[in-house]
Amino acid sequence: MVLDRINELRQQLEQLSYEYHVLDKPTISDESYDLLLHELIQLEKAHPEYYDPNSISQKIGGIVSSKFKKVKHEVPLYSLSNAFNLADLEAFDARVQHEVGVSDYVLELKIDGLAMAIDYVDGLFTQAVTRGDGQEGEDVTQNVKTIKSLPLKLKDELTLSLRGEIFMPKKAFEKLNQENREKGIAEFANCRNAAAGSVRQLDSSIASKRSLDAFWYTLVNPKAYGIQTQWEALQQMKAWGFKTNRFVYHCESIDAVWNQIEKIAQIKSSFDFDIDGMVLKVNDFNKQQQLGYTIKVPKFAIAYKFPAELAQTTVLDIHLTVGRTGRITPNARLSPVIISGTTVSAASLHNEDYIKQKDIRVNDRVLIQKAGEIIPEIVKSLPEYRDSDSKEYVMDRHCPMCHSELYRDELEADTYCLNKECPAVIVESIAHFASRKAMNIDGLGIARVTQLHDANLLNRVEDIYFLKDHVEELLTLEKFGQKSVEKLLNAIEASKKNDFGALLFGLGIRHIGEKAADTLASSYKSIDKLMETTFETLITTEDIGAISAQSVIDYFAVNENRELIKRLKEVGVKTMTQQSKTIQSVLTNKTVVLTGTLQTMTRDEAMELLKKHDAKISSSVSKKTDIVIAGDNAGSKLKKAVELGVQVWDEARLIKEVSQ
Ligand code: NAD
Repeated sequence: MVLDRINELRQQLEQLSYEYHVLDKPTISDESYDLLLHELIQLEKAHPEYYDPNSISQKIGGIVSSKFKKVKHEVPLYSLSNAFNLADLEAFDARVQHEVGVSDYVLELKIDGLAMAIDYVDGLFTQAVTRGDGQEGEDVTQNVKTIKSLPLKLKDELTLSLRGEIFMPKKAFEKLNQENREKGIAEFANCRNAAAGSVRQLDSSIASKRSLDAFWYTLVNPKAYGIQTQWEALQQMKAWGFKTNRFVYHCESIDAVWNQIEKIAQIKSSFDFDIDGMVLKVNDFNKQQQLGYTIKVPKFAIAYKFPAELAQTTVLDIHLTVGRTGRITPNARLSPVIISGTTVSAASLHNEDYIKQKDIRVNDRVLIQKAGEIIPEIVKSLPEYRDSDSKEYVMDRHCPMCHSELYRDELEADTYCLNKECPAVIVESIAHFASRKAMNIDGLGIARVTQLHDANLLNRVEDIYFLKDHVEELLTLEKFGQKSVEKLLNAIEASKKNDFGALLFGLGIRHIGEKAADTLASSYKSIDKLMETTFETLITTEDIGAISAQSVIDYFAVNENRELIKRLKEVGVKTMTQQSKTIQSVLTNKTVVLTGTLQTMTRDEAMELLKKHDAKISSSVSKKTDIVIAGDNAGSKLKKAVELGVQVWDEARLIKEVSQ
């Protein structure tokens, strides 16, 4: 029983850590992640018989991507153990006192960014490496060089190694997300993920536009410079020209530490950078050395984590919005309240069942939480504050935009507006068609599409291609100048030559995401062939299951959709067939599965390469698989390939075959 839970937690945390550190896309809040990790550590402590050196509790966060050159850290970068309350800090202090006899600390802000190791040789900046798995990181020198506050040349010819935190200021983060929203690109969940995503870009011109900044807090090998304490090290780094954070405190008791933590908690939302806690460090380096390290964390430091911010407010009303597929989302309008420095006045309620489970009602007093994420969440309603006439929420059965009757399949949680002429569905569908991963028409985000729809210039997807006949009307609209109209029309013209897969994705067929659209494009080569195919043929296509196949059939069975294709052809959209930019090779038409980590290219780059050779990429190994390309740490897919006798190539073989 206990072992089952331990294994479940290890697996779940591995997945969450991958999403956070590698994909820079966390799916749960840090607080929830920390709670799960805490549970695992407690269970492992109580059951030492289940110790496993490979458990996530024994490992340092990140994973080293093969996109960048790997660099071994001469001195490892550690994680930090956590304290969640005063009692945890007192326990830490008791241990420190017991082992080294003093309570002499430096208290710093815990900047919520990305740890970085930087080197200088003879006064010149030479290298920046991410923390990675603590032992080995990624060489991101070119990107870190773009940070304006970082000195590239020091006044003195010093050879130094420093550690610090790269972060994205809140203002830059908001601007980046605003731009992403307008371009139809996914937004970053928080400043940390935006900073990590920017530092780990192959093209340093992208990082240079992201206004990254850094605070430096560790001097490696300080005694070589005659420095004995962390306090002095911070002063010295500042004197050398490095940016250090000014909120640092020299404290000689845990009471003094707690006092400062309480003060910072009051003002932290006014900082232009995110912090997720404070770091307490033993000041004297000799004492630090005496205390030493565990495999994962130093024993001379601890991170106090601020609790997720909670606030009470009132649900003013619950209103419905309509998405591209007609999906209805209920949203709560809240009485405005400030959490983490931002005013929160709305929260998504996801679907009817979510509201039922939490029993959220109009006029309810509710507890809301915001933990760095963009969208705040209603934790629970507080029924003790309810009036006696309070009524359970009943969702309206009519579309808020077109008033047609809504539909809910009993097996699904979501409710839909099925009216194709619904104005909300039209606007969302056009914006999706124009979005970056579809037809990539820059300047046609949701706000503009709504504006053009209101002006009666965009009522159907194909109207995009008739905007060129309405230049004069466009110029009368707010925010449309000569230049921006020209830019928009050029982007529209260019989209006619876009990819077939991108067009298929842009049509917004239910269950057909970007990858499935690409698969269909490379398997069917032209829209005419795809429109004429049958359900039976479709389900034999690799990675297209029965639900997606039925959805394609349903889509093309609708006359209006066939008409749309016809009209897009008439206006000159040339992407109705797979362009033959592919290279013919031994991989052409072969079903290929990628597994494990490659050394010279990322997974996306490998997929791109396979697509260029017109290979069919599949995610699972079966008898139909022709080739499995196995990188490092390939697991069950490699095993299955061997069992089934499928050809297995290593990375060297792949490179050899494609360069023939
Ligand atoms: P950590 O972030 O809790 O602490 C270690 C890091 O603190 C250091 O590497 C350094 O980068 C940073 N730091 C900032 N200011 C510092 C200062 N003044 N002095 C020293 N260090 C400072 O630990 P971790 O192992 O890097 O990662 C765990 C974090 O990642 C947790 O906050 C966890 O919640 C989060 N996480 C979240 C998810 C998720 O799904 N939401 C998944 C994995 C990890």
